[in-house]
Amino acid sequence: MNSHHTEAGVTVLGLGRMGSALAAAFLAAGHPTTVWNRTPARADELAAAGAVRAETVAEAVTASDLVVVCVLDQPAVTALLDPVAGSLAGRTLVNLTSGSPEQARAMAAWAAGHSVAYLDGGIMTTPDGVGLPTSMFLYGGSPGALAAHHKTLSVLGDPVDLGDDAGLASLYDAGLLGLMWSVFGGWLHATALAGADGVAASAFTPVAVRWLTTVSGFMERYAGQIDAGHYPGDDATIDVQLAAIEHLLHAGRERGIDGRLPELHRELMAKAVAEGNGGDSYARLVDAFRGR
Ligand code: NAP
Repeated sequence: MNSHHTEAGVTVLGLGRMGSALAAAFLAAGHPTTVWNRTPARADELAAAGAVRAETVAEAVTASDLVVVCVLDQPAVTALLDPVAGSLAGRTLVNLTSGSPEQARAMAAWAAGHSVAYLDGGIMTTPDGVGLPTSMFLYGGSPGALAAHHKTLSVLGDPVDLGDDAGLASLYDAGLLGLMWSVFGGWLHATALAGADGVAASAFTPVAVRWLTTVSGFMERYAGQIDAGHYPGDDATIDVQLAAIEHLLHAGRERGIDGRLPELHRELMAKAVAEGNGGDSYARLVDAFRGR
């Protein structure tokens, strides 16, 4: 028996940077892979590597029970799939195109209306990370759909099950990118600060990365406080941190470093202190981000 055919077939629509990486990973893992792209030439390399090239979207979606779509945005997904909704019925659609939670929930409703099982996904890596077990792929949507295709989807990375709300993958994705930009901002600010005294980024960064592990531990502790709505400052209070951030601002001023990021942190801390919450833990600042 040809070992190829022991693996489930999969269709990939959209062969840009990310779609090509997804299709290549399925192919490399031995899954019969059907591909389609608006600009057909982008399928050439995959076809040469053994993928089946579909001439039309309809042909592509009928080739496999599992259909993965990864194009520019949600309007492109709708334009591609609405005309072939009848052919998708009874299959599972995995939408790895970035979008908003609202768009994802609208797609889920559309899919349910056409008897299509639907998973909305968030890819928490770049194309070079596709296929690594350390890469997270977030999924939410039709109950049972992830379990049914878990083995195939594991080829792309570690599938993280967010449950049956199709909007959550996009919501997590957006929040996690925000976290990444905040971390990048803090790291670049600190790197500029250390660099002003001649410290190379490559010398400072390993220490910064170790510190992130400690910070992760703080986050895990504070998550419970946020859920409980109770912020005991028994490890470090906002009062103490408001005093400490002055050293960062001072060091930055002395070196001509842009201080807007730490100034925002100081502003939020000062507000919490003004509201009488200076004795609480830093987790109390979640209030500053919440709508009133
Ligand atoms: P890309 O390289 O620019 O590819 C875009 C793809 O979308 C191409 O296949 C393009 O087809 C197709 N497309 C655009 N408009 C279309 C339309 N109206 N109808 C049909 N196909 C259309 O982008 P990418 O990096 O692969 O990103 C694709 C999606 O993955 C995006 O939603 C992106 O946010 C998400 N994503 C990307 C990364 C990343 O690191 N690259 C990470 C996470 C998530 P043509 O070849 O015909 O132009």
